[in-house]
Amino acid sequence: MGEAMDCRGVDLSGAEIRGDVEGRNPPIFLPRQPAASPLVALDIGGTLIKLVYTASCEGGGAGAELRFAKFERRRLQECFDFIRAKGLLGCNGTRSGKENVPLKATGGGAYKFSDDFREKLGVCLDKLDEMDSVVSGANFLLQNIPGAAFTHMNGQRNPVDVSPNNLFPYLLVNIGSGVSILKVTGNRKFERVTGTHIGGGTMFGLAKLLTGCKSYDEFLQLSQKGDNFVLDLIVKDICGELVCQKQGLSTSTLASSFGKVITSKKRLTDYKPEDLASTLLSAFTYNIAQIAFLVASLLGLRRVFFGGSYIRGHKSTMENISFAIDFWSQSQMQAVFLRHEGYLGALGALMSYGDLSGENLTLEESKEKEPHHESAAPVDGTLSDEENDSNIFPYLLVNIGSGVSMIEVIGKGKFERIIGSHLGGGTILGLARLLTGCSSYEEFLELSQRGNNLSVDLTVGDIYGEEGYPKIGLPASTTAASFGKVNSSKLSDYKIEDLAAALLNSFTYNIGQIAYFVANLSGLKRIFFRGAYVCGHEKTMDKISRSLKYWSKGEVQTTFLCHEGFLGTLGAFWSYENMGIDSLAAHEVIREVLLGAPYTGQFPSLPVTEQQENGENNTLEGEIESLRNNNAALKAEVDRLQSENAELRAKLRGATL
Ligand code: ADP
Repeated sequence: MGEAMDCRGVDLSGAEIRGDVEGRNPPIFLPRQPAASPLVALDIGGTLIKLVYTASCEGGGAGAELRFAKFERRRLQECFDFIRAKGLLGCNGTRSGKENVPLKATGGGAYKFSDDFREKLGVCLDKLDEMDSVVSGANFLLQNIPGAAFTHMNGQRNPVDVSPNNLFPYLLVNIGSGVSILKVTGNRKFERVTGTHIGGGTMFGLAKLLTGCKSYDEFLQLSQKGDNFVLDLIVKDICGELVCQKQGLSTSTLASSFGKVITSKKRLTDYKPEDLASTLLSAFTYNIAQIAFLVASLLGLRRVFFGGSYIRGHKSTMENISFAIDFWSQSQMQAVFLRHEGYLGALGALMSYGDLSGENLTLEESKEKEPHHESAAPVDGTLSDEENDSNIFPYLLVNIGSGVSMIEVIGKGKFERIIGSHLGGGTILGLARLLTGCSSYEEFLELSQRGNNLSVDLTVGDIYGEEGYPKIGLPASTTAASFGKVNSSKLSDYKIEDLAAALLNSFTYNIGQIAYFVANLSGLKRIFFRGAYVCGHEKTMDKISRSLKYWSKGEVQTTFLCHEGFLGTLGAFWSYENMGIDSLAAHEVIREVLLGAPYTGQFPSLPVTEQQENGENNTLEGEIESLRNNNAALKAEVDRLQSENAELRAKLRGATL
C-alpha cells in the first residue's frame, strides 16, 4: 500500500489496572512498554470514535500506560485536535516522516474517513477488520488484565476469574449502534454468527425523539428516575391479579413495552421523560439479552460476554441483561461484562502494531475472497402442493398481539409455549402513537407506506461507505441501526411518515429474527403467524415475510393464519382444528396471559407504581367483574369468528363449484 510498516508492537507482559479498580475505563499499566514513542489506534464506529493510546505513566516511572478517549463520530475534528495535541502523530512505530506513518484504525469510519485523515492530519490509516479487532481486544483484556471481567447481578459486582484454559469458546455480544454477535473459539478464531439492527443507535435515537435528551448520560440519568410501568403493559394489566395467582404468574411480568400507550388518551407531552427513558432502556436491553440468549442456546454456549458503549458501565443496564440471561437460561448461562467494554475494537487495533502476519484483509481484498451470496428464498406464504393436514406438524405458531408469543405445536391439541417477546404489536402502535400521533394501526401502516426509513435509519453504507462491509456479507443498503441516524432531539425535525416506516421495519424484522431463532432452536421448518397485528394487514405480513426470508435465507416457510378456516393463500383447509390449536383459540383471554408474556419473575429494582402499591382495583369483586367481562368479550369473539368462518366456507364452496 506504499505505507511504512510499523516495526514494533505492544509489550503486554505484566499489564494490569492500577489505582481505582471500580472506576470507568481506568488506564492499563504496561510496565515494559516504552513511553518515549507513543502508539495510537482508533475505532471509528457508527456513533462514536474510540481512541486508545500509550502515554507515560501518571506520576512518572518506567513503562507506559494505555489511555482511553472517545468522541462523537460527527465531531471528527475534535478527534483530530486531540491526536495533534497529545503528540500522537508521526511516531507509531517508525521513525519515518509522518506522511508515511500508518495509523491503525478499525470500524467503518476507517474506510469512510480515510481521505480526511490523510488531508487533515497527513496520516494514512492502516485499516483493520472490525470483527477481528473486537475479538482481539476482548481476548487481550480477558487473557492479560486481571479483573477485566465481572458479573453484575442483584446489585453485586463480582470479578470473573478467566483462565486461558476455561475461556473458549464464548459468545461475544458487542452492543454498539447496532449489535454484532460472535462466537469466539480462540485467539483470532471466531465467527460472526448474527447481529441485530435494534441496538444502541435505536435506543438512543428514539430516546432523543421521545425525551428530548441531548446526551447519552442524560438519557441514562433520566431512566434511573423513571417508572416503566406507566407505559409498559404487564400481565396484571391484561388479566388481573386473580388469574395471575391461579396461573402462578408474576403480576409484574412484562407483556408489551409501551403497550399501555395504545389505550391511553395521553399524548407524548403528557408523559414524563423519566418514564419514557425507563421504558426504552428496559425494552431494548431485554430484547438484546433475549437475542443473545437464543444465539447462545443455539450454539450451546454458557458464557456470554457483553461489550460495546451501549453498556457504559451503567448498573441498571447490566442488571437487566444479567437478570434476563439468568431468567431465560434458568441460571444455566452467565452474563459477563468488561471494564473497558467500549474499547474492544480500538484495543484490538492497537494490539496489531508489530503484527506482521498481514492477516487483516482490506475490504476490497476480502470481497474478492468472500463473494456476497444472495439468498435463494422461496416465495413466501406458500407451502408445497404435497403439504396436507397430516404433515403440518410440528410448526411454530407466532402470535403477534400486544406482545409476541411463540408456541411449538407438535400435534392436535399438543402445544407448548416456548418463549415470548415484549416487543410486539403494542410496542409498535404505542411508539407510533407517541412519535406520529396516529390514532389507529391502519393509519400508522398507511403513513409508513409513504415514508422513507432511510432518513432515520443508519445503514452499513452510512458507516462504511458505498462498499458496505462485504467480508461479513453486509451490503451498504443493510440497516445497521434502526433510528441510528437520529441526531436531533426535536421530533418535529423528522417526517412522521419516515418515522412510521422505520418503526414498521425495525420491529417486524426483530420479530422475524426472534421467530427464526426460536424455530431453529426447536428444529422447526415452518412458522405460522397470527394475531391482531398481522391479520388482514398486508403491509405487516409483507415485512414479516421479507424478514424471515432475510434471516433464514429461505430455509423457513412463512405463512399467515388470519382467522379460523382461512390461512393466506391456502383457504379453508387450514382450520384451527386442523392445525391442532382449536383449544388454544378457545382460550383467547388466557392466551394473552400465558402466551403473551416474555418472561416471569420480577426484576428486583423495577419500580412499583403507587397504584400497584395501594392495591387499587385488587378486590375480589373487581376481579370477578373483570373476568365476567372478559368472558363475555371472548364469547362475542368466538361467535364472530364462527360466523365469519361459515361465510368463508360458503364462499369457498361457491368458488369451487
Ligand atoms: P459504534 O462503534 O457503532 O459507534 P459503540 O460501541 O461506540 O458503537 O456504541 C454506540 C452506542 O453507545 C450508542 O448508540 C449509544 O447507545 C451508546 N453511547 C454510549 N455513550 C455515548 C455517547 N457519549 N454518545 C452517544 N452514544 C453513546
